[in-house]
Amino acid sequence: MAMNTSTENIKVVDHKINYNNLVFYVIDTTNSILNIDHTMGYDAIILDASDPEYARIVLKKIRSHYNPEFYLKPVFLLNFKETKDPLLNNMHDGLMTSYDQVVSMSEVAKRIFLKTTQLDNQLIPSFEGQTVKKVLNYMYTRDIRTLKPIVDLNSSIGYTYPELSINFTNTEEPQVLEILEWADREGLIWPDFYERVYLCNNCNSGALSYREVCPHCNSANSKSEDLVHHFPCAYIGPISDFQNNIDSSLNCPKCNKTLRHIGIDYDKPSVIHHCNNCDQNYQDAFIKSKCLSCEDDIDVKYLVPKTVNIYKLTRKGRSAATSGFLSSSLEVDDIFGTINMQTLRIMLHYELEKVKESPAQKTSIALVHLENIFELYNKIGKKGERKLLEELVAVVRENIKSSDVIAFESSSTLYLMLTNTASENAEQKLKNLTALTENLIKKNFNSFKVNLLYKVKMLDANKKAEVQLQELSKDFFA
Ligand SMILES: [Zn+2]
Ligand SMILES: [Zn+2]
Ligand SMILES: [Zn+2]
Repeated sequence: MAMNTSTENIKVVDHKINYNNLVFYVIDTTNSILNIDHTMGYDAIILDASDPEYARIVLKKIRSHYNPEFYLKPVFLLNFKETKDPLLNNMHDGLMTSYDQVVSMSEVAKRIFLKTTQLDNQLIPSFEGQTVKKVLNYMYTRDIRTLKPIVDLNSSIGYTYPELSINFTNTEEPQVLEILEWADREGLIWPDFYERVYLCNNCNSGALSYREVCPHCNSANSKSEDLVHHFPCAYIGPISDFQNNIDSSLNCPKCNKTLRHIGIDYDKPSVIHHCNNCDQNYQDAFIKSKCLSCEDDIDVKYLVPKTVNIYKLTRKGRSAATSGFLSSSLEVDDIFGTINMQTLRIMLHYELEKVKESPAQKTSIALVHLENIFELYNKIGKKGERKLLEELVAVVRENIKSSDVIAFESSSTLYLMLTNTASENAEQKLKNLTALTENLIKKNFNSFKVNLLYKVKMLDANKKAEVQLQELSKDFFA
């Protein structure tokens, strides 16, 4: 019996296919949608898309994961049906109609792996930087050069950029525009005008209902009529003044003549509106737009216009995936009650001089890292992030001495210098601060559970400040 050699080896055993030194894992509706983390270790995923809703949720889980092992994983869709969903349409690596196609998909997977090994893995210390790097990594491994907006009824602004938007919920889409503006400022992408959208000035939603309203009472309950101007007698009035109940002829209420030809003996110079709510007549209606999200009724001139661009990667953007990039601004520098890292180094230097002179004086340094805080920044946006950091500083400030200092290295990492504090006391202090901070975030940010980690070290009089900071960070992150 003749058998196709390629299909001979392709068997699905316990959700797995071994082929060409790769292990493909098949995810279908028999897998729990809640946890797909166990698929992390496989080389590629075959996702059964016969149920598009299920496939969408799983694909989003994979691609929005923070771990590159996960979000860069080759994903192939099996039994894909045509859909309008930009996410399902754009965030897969190939479509399969049968398992035999594992043969060609294994080549695709290997190509993606090879590119993955070329990526730069340095962490970028800002939410925007981290998000953009993730997108650039994905684009690089898939040979994508442009970020295109796609019409999406589910997006709160009407458009979505799948490669970036997948990291956000539909209502967070306005943040996607902010991230793109940031990447543009950083010189990573180059904008080309595509379309303009108008957003609610209260909640940034683009789901707006426009209508003409009465300028006196804002009601949309009105009827409109043509105004008629009868030339022979100069009478002007709404067309209903000229109409009768019997036929369609028009008769002038002033001179009783029958109107003949429009443009000859009469014309219709404009339209008149009558408000059924306040009973007033008016000629120019206001145009208002009601936000379907927050229900604010906004004068159209106060809507927020936003340009939706097609973005091309710049040279810097193209090389950023493989060689990293430095963000030009660390916006955590100027939070009240903190100093910047440069000043911290200088202060540590003088503190060391003091410790050398009087060895009884103990000073500790601590590194505090909010491990999963970007998940929260993701939700609360730039303003929320800043507010959180300000509140955090206020809490820490209340619990340390005025001679102690706080310096942010990034919006997820900060350093403390605790004067006259030996390491046991410092340890205790940090423990308290951790509890207070966790509580603060939990209380103010929708029960978010922050993973707060810290490390404390006593200053060593015989080592340079710079070196001690490096050691602390190395001990911590290694
Ligand atoms: Zn009115
Ligand atoms: Zn007349
Ligand atoms: Zn709104």
